[in-house]
Amino acid sequence: MPSRVGGPAAYPRRVIRPGGHHRDDGDPGDHEASDVDPYAAARARMVESHLRARGIRDARVLAAMASVPREAFVPAGLGELAYADEALPIDHEQTISQPLMVALMSELLAPDPGDRVLEVGTGSGYQAAVLAAMGCHVLGIERIPELAAAARERLAALGYGDAVEVRVGDGSVGAPDGAPWARILVAAAAPRVPDALTDQLADGGRLVIPVGARWEQDLVLVEREGGRLRTTNHGGCVFVPLIGKAGYR
Ligand code: SAM
Repeated sequence: MPSRVGGPAAYPRRVIRPGGHHRDDGDPGDHEASDVDPYAAARARMVESHLRARGIRDARVLAAMASVPREAFVPAGLGELAYADEALPIDHEQTISQPLMVALMSELLAPDPGDRVLEVGTGSGYQAAVLAAMGCHVLGIERIPELAAAARERLAALGYGDAVEVRVGDGSVGAPDGAPWARILVAAAAPRVPDALTDQLADGGRLVIPVGARWEQDLVLVEREGGRLRTTNHGGCVFVPLIGKAGYR
């Protein structure tokens, strides 16, 4: 496991373990069952123990993650792990990101309600659903067609279909047809910040992206102010690689 690189002391090391999963908590069987939503207690506990207690302060992020049913985004059979603070494997050797990382990226992104957000690496669709629950209009780009189709279907079934469009493609080059984007979130690791993404960022826009080596990166925030880009580092992380023209080959 790589060591932490940079970032504020308020946050513990945040690592997405590709495919990693172990049973520690979040088991709804550990909690009082609810007739209406058997995962409600586990979800509330995730928000308190894994997010608020570990430095997530944005009330809209916390509320969104208290509302989105993560169990619907994890593979059948892993529902009992849905609220552990772990990345979990999904199909095609990809992952659904760790809840703390989803919260941190959403907090750094700081979208305003109604913002148009480009999300690169839609995977299961969970991060897109969280952004939709924060009032964003999301274009998700996913390079693996089967994951995109499954995410599209899942998001529609859960009622996020009007707020999230899922497209198949190489998101490392962004989506010029929708630019400029108020916010861009990349959920896969890039060797460097792609120029195409900063070029497509609106004035006042924010881009959140893991940048670094293939299996160890820093979470980077890029803010555009007119012609200037301000880049800050928000700590170590591990994501699956961004595969594409401006990613890894
Ligand atoms: N946000 C996702 C979620 O909530 O489930 C998790 C994303 S997973 C860590 C990274 C995803 O990025 C994978 O599904 C992978 O196929 C996708 N990906 C990798 N390179 C890509 C690219 N160039 N364009 C679009 N998607 C890409």
